[in-house]
Formats: sequence, C-alpha cells, structure tokens
Amino acid sequence: MQIGLIRYLIDKLYNANILDKDEIVYILKNIKDENKEILFDYAVKTCERYYKRKVYLRGLIEFSNICMRNCLYCGIRAENSNAERYRLSKDEILECCKEGYSLGYRTFVLQSGEDMWFDAEKISDIIKSIKALYPDVAVTLSIGERTYDEYKIMFDAGADRFLLRHETASEELYGKLHPGASFINRKNCLYILKEIGYQVGAGFMIGLPGQTEEHLADDLIFLKELYPHMIGIGPFIPHSETPLCNEKGGTVEDTLVVLAMARLMVPDALIPATTAIGTLKKNGRELALNAGANVVMPNLTPVNQRAKYDLYENKICIGDEPAHCRVCIENRIRAAGFEPDLGRGDNVNFLKD
Ligand code: SAH
Repeated sequence: MQIGLIRYLIDKLYNANILDKDEIVYILKNIKDENKEILFDYAVKTCERYYKRKVYLRGLIEFSNICMRNCLYCGIRAENSNAERYRLSKDEILECCKEGYSLGYRTFVLQSGEDMWFDAEKISDIIKSIKALYPDVAVTLSIGERTYDEYKIMFDAGADRFLLRHETASEELYGKLHPGASFINRKNCLYILKEIGYQVGAGFMIGLPGQTEEHLADDLIFLKELYPHMIGIGPFIPHSETPLCNEKGGTVEDTLVVLAMARLMVPDALIPATTAIGTLKKNGRELALNAGANVVMPNLTPVNQRAKYDLYENKICIGDEPAHCRVCIENRIRAAGFEPDLGRGDNVNFLKD
C-alpha cells in the first residue's frame, strides 16, 4: 500500500530532523488525528534518545511585572493601567530560592517584564547571592532585551541560561504585535546570548491574530537555524485588558503539533510543557509531555503577588503554595508516564558546544 504524502513527510522529519518550508506547511495544513499520533510518538522517541523519560522541574520566580514594552497580547504591557504592579526585593527573591532549594529545585528561573530598574548590576548582585548560597543550582534569566555588555555582566556574575522567546519569526507579524520594538534586535539578542555562552531559549506563541501556517513554518525554520538549547512554545491566550482582548487565541491541538515538530527539528532541546497550555486544558501539560516536551516550571513566586503576573487570563495555580505545586506536578508527570527530575537538567550537548 502506498503511504500518503503526509506520513512520508513526518517520517522524513523524524529521520532527517529537517524539512523545507513547503513541507512543513503541508503537514501543518493537512495533519489529522491518526498522523498526529505518529508525530507525537516520534517526538517522544526522539526526546527519549537524549533525556530518557526524564522531565526536569524548574522553580519559576516572577520577580517584577513592571514592563516598558507594549506587546499587544500581554497583560502586563506598559499601557495596561489596570495592572497592579509589583517588584520583589532581593530578600524576597532569596526567600523564594530558599524555599525552592529546600523543595529540591536546582534551577531557578528569574522572570520579569522589561523592568530597567533591575539593571545588570542589581541582577548580578542577586545572581551572585543565589550562587553563593546554593552553588549547585543553575540560574536562568528571562528579563527581555538588554545590550551585549549587560548580558555579559550577568553571565560573568554566574547566570547560566537565558529565555527570550522570539515570539514570531515573521518580521511583518512581529512589527504588528510589538509597537516600537525591533524584530532584528530581538533576534540579534538571541545570537549574542549564545555567543556569550548562555544556554539559550527561543520560542513563540501559537494562534496569534494573523498568524498563518507559513508563519509557523518560518518559526520552525528559525529554530533550526538558531539551534537553541531550550524552546518555549505555548498558545496565545487573550487578556481582557489588552488590544487583542476579542481575539480567539491558540488551541491545545495546534500547539501540540507545532511542539512535536519543534522537537524533531531540534531533537536535543529542552522544551517546557507550558503553564499556558495547562491553562487551556486541565491535562494540557501532560499532553505536551506526550508530544515531546520534557520540562515543567512550577511557580515559586510568593502567593500574595502571583496573581499580578497575569500575562493572560485564568492562569492556573495562582493560589497554590510551592510545596503543593511540587507534589501536584510530580504526580502529574508520573501519571503521564514520565519521571520527574529535580537536577539542574542542562542541555545534554551544552558542554560539548
Ligand atoms: N519580558 C520577558 C518575559 C516575557 S513573559 C521577555 O521579554 O522575554 C514570557 C512569555 O509569555 C513571553 O515571551 C510570551 O511569549 C508569553 N506571553 C505573553 N503574553 C501572553 C499571552 N497573552 N498568552 C500566552 N503567552 C503570553
């Protein structure tokens, strides 16, 4: 029996870890349930080759929701005057790390809006304190666009990794969604971070208004070109206090297909099952693990501030204490057939770079 073109292309992606744009678009436009199962199976098998069935846990600390940007989709954009703003102090951040460390986390992800009050010096001071107290942890930053010198100062202070989603690889779409921001600069930051020596995470949202299969193919091709150590892919979820409040947003189904394809394009990447996908569907993160994801990022932000880091509507776990989150997430990972791992969880090929 002749196998269909779509199956042929999925097999080709699995074996060669690359497809051209037309081939990616063809899969995205035509894939149906039966072939999705094969794609997800290939994605999990590929992930297992590098990481077995381990799922790495990262403690997420959202330390400021103050932001100078105006990304149209984001609930903490500067122009949302209804957002209640907060900044954690250094002591509060260290308190989160203390709790996280005692719960077993060995990666802390420090995420914020683009809050320039936290300059390279202040961030470096925080990193040094974390590293002095907990020498065996990895520190990941997710604080947006900075200069080469600032990235270098923070790296020299001990930062290990940096998450900076490119958001979309289409210059035109990027321009529409990010008033006053530069697509070229955002991409350039990723190359700079890599050059400095960070483990770098790129990524994008699924279901942005105006986003086509061609745009998503460009995202996957950009990932192949950049070859990041980490890849964050989640559905866009509209927020009522933003210009995109009436948009539809992304679906779990579309996100899973693109995530699995990203796994096959960059086989050794660390890919989170995002909070956003868990927000759209109760078992969204479990489905993501079964489509090639291998990281989960439970929240360590103090419960009294957590609701304020609201990038999108109905974000899950905003009232849950860190100890509860850890147990809950470990149970979910196990129930989905995977093995939670609290180690640093570096990219397997990082040291060989
Ligand atoms: N200021 C940092 C961190 C941004 S928040 C930076 O610039 O990298 C982390 C990610 O949340 C963003 O990169 C974006 O992809 C995602 N995000 C923002 N608003 C969202 C929304 N409405 N729905 C889903 N994801 C969103």
